[in-house]
Amino acid sequence: MAGTDRCLFCRIAAGEIPAKKVYEDNDVVAFNDINPQAPTHILIIPRKHISSLDAMTDGDAQIIGITLSRAAQIARDHQLTSEGYRVVVNTGEAAGQTVFHIHFHILGGRNFGWPPG
Ligand code: AMP
Ligand code: ZN
Repeated sequence: MAGTDRCLFCRIAAGEIPAKKVYEDNDVVAFNDINPQAPTHILIIPRKHISSLDAMTDGDAQIIGITLSRAAQIARDHQLTSEGYRVVVNTGEAAGQTVFHIHFHILGGRNFGWPPG
């Protein structure tokens, strides 16, 4: 697929770039964020290259649903559920998106303010 050869997260999913993976299966890969913003900061991505939430179509509903379900399981596996945790999808540059392969931030281990910055 054009454009995915050089996508950082596609390359991490393919094992071409090292990352501290905490979970992977045929559909998703989860790994520690290289610049953690909380004691637990995991990124989970679908293996399928979708550039952002804005690029999601109804045809992606199953894979994104699976990605979210896996995120919830990873949060349970990391004991985040009793205190609570945050899942973030930055979409577009003004929202802070820097990597254009859709990803869910799983953040836990501290309190979070609202509204977010
Ligand atoms: P966003 O700013 O929402 O697009 O999130 C991108 C995230 O990817 C940031 O939190 C970065 O710290 C993280 N990141 C960038 N490069 C890597 C990498 N090689 N391994 C793990 N996380 C990364
Ligand atoms: Zn990609």
